[in-house]
Amino acid sequence: MTDPIDPMEIDVKPDGDADRFLNIVNHISRQNISLCWQCLCCSGGCPFAVHMDLLPNKVIRLVQLGYGRAALRCRTIWLCVGCHTCSSQCPNSIDVAAIMDALRQLAIREGIAAPEMDIYRFHKFIYASVERHGRLNKLEAMVHFKLGAGKIFSDLAPGLKMLTRGKLELLSQKVADRDELGRVFAHYNRKRRSFDTHERD
Ligand code: SF4
Ligand code: SF4
Repeated sequence: MTDPIDPMEIDVKPDGDADRFLNIVNHISRQNISLCWQCLCCSGGCPFAVHMDLLPNKVIRLVQLGYGRAALRCRTIWLCVGCHTCSSQCPNSIDVAAIMDALRQLAIREGIAAPEMDIYRFHKFIYASVERHGRLNKLEAMVHFKLGAGKIFSDLAPGLKMLTRGKLELLSQKVADRDELGRVFAHYNRKRRSFDTHERD
């Protein structure tokens, strides 16, 4: 398992007021991270832990201790796919996936470059597709991502298999109330730092 970083030995001091960072992440994720007692159930069940630089429980520990910079810079928050396996196994009902999501939001807001830029760009195209239609068009998001990355022919075989099995829709489903959709995204786009600004950092 790839886990070269020990939060207890990490070479940064807690960033400012440790409680402040904890409270911000609690607020965005709507979780009480202080309840975590480091049992490791989340990390033990995470199917992507082997690829992460910090196990999910260690990211939680960084947040508890106020090591904001380290938590926002790690690869783990970008490798998390939000499958909620960890959340379903937590004895304290902590939604770890929601915390990862909150940390990604904060990293974007703080202009901290994602160590996994391809994953970051994939998020961007998914966001754009939902903003356009009110629903995700997986085929559209994947084609835009592949074109942007210059890898249009990679993953062709699984892509065709998904298409023939009806897992990728050719025509986008669109929500009826376009005005409401526009208002929702206008609100959130005002609040967050733009994806494009982030990518130039
Ligand atoms: S939600 Fe993220 S951290 Fe939790 S098990 Fe899935 S990939 Fe791992
Ligand atoms: S499963 Fe819950 S309590 Fe255990 S380490 Fe993970 S977040 Fe903490």
